[in-house]
Amino acid sequence: MADFDLAVIGGGINGAGIARDAAGRGLRVLLAEQNDLASATSSASSKLIHGGLRYLEHYEFGLVRSALNEREILLRAAPHLVHPLRFVLPVNAARRSPTLLHIGLLLYDWLSWRKILPGSRELDLLTDPAGDPLRSTFHHAFEYSDCFADDARLVVLNAVDAAERGASIRTRTRCVRAERGSEWQLILNARGQREVVTARVLVNAAGAWVESITEAILRQQSPQGRWKPRLLLDKGTHIVVPRLYDHDRAYILQAADRRVVFTIPFQDDFTLIGTTDGRFNGDPAAVTPSGEEIDYLCGVVNEYFRKSISAADAVWAYAGVRSLYDDGRGKAQDVGREYQLVLDERPGEAPLLTVYGGKITTHRLLAEDVLVKLAHFFPRTRPWTAKSALPGGDFVYDGLETLTARTLRAWPFLADDHALRLVRAYGTRIGDVLKDVASSADLGISFGADLTAAEVRYLMTKEWAQTADDVLWRRSKLGLRLTDAQRATLDRFMSQS
Ligand SMILES: Cc1cc2nc3c(=O)[nH]c(=O)nc-3n(C[C@H](O)[C@H](O)[C@H](O)COP(=O)(O)OP(=O)(O)OC[C@H]3O[C@@H](n4cnc5c(N)ncnc54)[C@H](O)[C@@H]3O)c2cc1C
Repeated sequence: MADFDLAVIGGGINGAGIARDAAGRGLRVLLAEQNDLASATSSASSKLIHGGLRYLEHYEFGLVRSALNEREILLRAAPHLVHPLRFVLPVNAARRSPTLLHIGLLLYDWLSWRKILPGSRELDLLTDPAGDPLRSTFHHAFEYSDCFADDARLVVLNAVDAAERGASIRTRTRCVRAERGSEWQLILNARGQREVVTARVLVNAAGAWVESITEAILRQQSPQGRWKPRLLLDKGTHIVVPRLYDHDRAYILQAADRRVVFTIPFQDDFTLIGTTDGRFNGDPAAVTPSGEEIDYLCGVVNEYFRKSISAADAVWAYAGVRSLYDDGRGKAQDVGREYQLVLDERPGEAPLLTVYGGKITTHRLLAEDVLVKLAHFFPRTRPWTAKSALPGGDFVYDGLETLTARTLRAWPFLADDHALRLVRAYGTRIGDVLKDVASSADLGISFGADLTAAEVRYLMTKEWAQTADDVLWRRSKLGLRLTDAQRATLDRFMSQS
């Protein structure tokens, strides 16, 4: 008998979501991630749980509708990580007709199933505070709802849930070869340690690496050209600057080249600005923001806001590469965002399912669809994730304040901001993070900001954190607040723990 029913290559949102869904159906699951969970595209997104207003321009109604519906499903599943966000879209008649925008938003409201999120409305920027930070030439805007999420923590919590349901999650474990027979034989390399495991079915969810894995690791080439690249890589860059304005809404700005740029309140003191869109050729591991892309983002912001920014204001910049299924339609902005699942079945050989594309927003649906595609191998399993909370998410969608107040009653020595940050990260699992903490001394060493040894130990034992970057950029965004020296202290602490 094979060691596993299902092996998944890739610990981004798609691989983690598939592992969670499959493990919850009772399958024996292995997930192999070559670096840290969410170390690639799934921590470099715009972090929106959205239908994608822009995709309406490309008539992707199916994608928009299913993505819109996922907003409230994820909001209920992870109310600590997913938050409603209102977007202000200033009217700029030279860029898009206000009538078309209005119709688009009516459609956006109409396509979605909404119980929590309010619908769209018009704004007078001369009287609404949303007009204050904008240049006086902007008089009107529309406002609509989407959600904002902690993308990397969503990945980690999918993996935690998968593990709690029996999956084996192996981080820093690279799949270096796979031999296909009546079952898959995978050769894994975990920091120099070689291990061979077998699985009945293999899922390639390696994001931007999906094609190179198919060719180099799985060696699945066929004379018919069955595996010739269908992948288009699209690079996007974001910058983070000190908070641009005081209110808690985001803006969606129409650029001269028809792209849109978001400005999103981020981590209380910052504004996240993104994204660019452009074809990428090269090694996805080496993707970095370019000066030109950063200048582009600043330029679009400066066209709309009174306050001017430049590259020097960026306290952080990141870039990611998304894999899009190339349907031959041309520019990156025009290529479909819908995911494609390709099942390769051959007589007498174990099946291979390859995941192309996908969004953070639709990862749960994608995972469900993967299990539908594999239903004949794993009969008698049922979808279950639509109504199940992610770890720590078992509280009402608007219950953050109540949970924070309860946390402060249980651990009265925590500062308000500290309690709120912990609740936003761990939800009801805060009790596990602070389980041995009865006084502030029990929190242990403080590494800077409000990161303490108690939290780091939890992340190392329950969430696979191994390095300072795992903690500072993926389990949290405290990297924005720690100095290099503090980071080095954290790294030393973790390597000695
Ligand atoms: C700029 C940008 C903005 C975006 N904004 C949004 C947004 O706002 N909302 C939204 O819903 N979506 C957004 N997306 C899309 C979304 O981020 C991606 O679709 C999603 O993160 C892809 O996840 P993934 O799991 O397929 O890939 P990844 O997250 O890249 O995961 C693949 C993993 O496979 C691993 N891997 C590769 N080779 C091996 C191997 N041999 N062995 C083991 N592991 C291996 C990699 O290390 C990697 O971690 C955005 C994308 C980009 C680029």
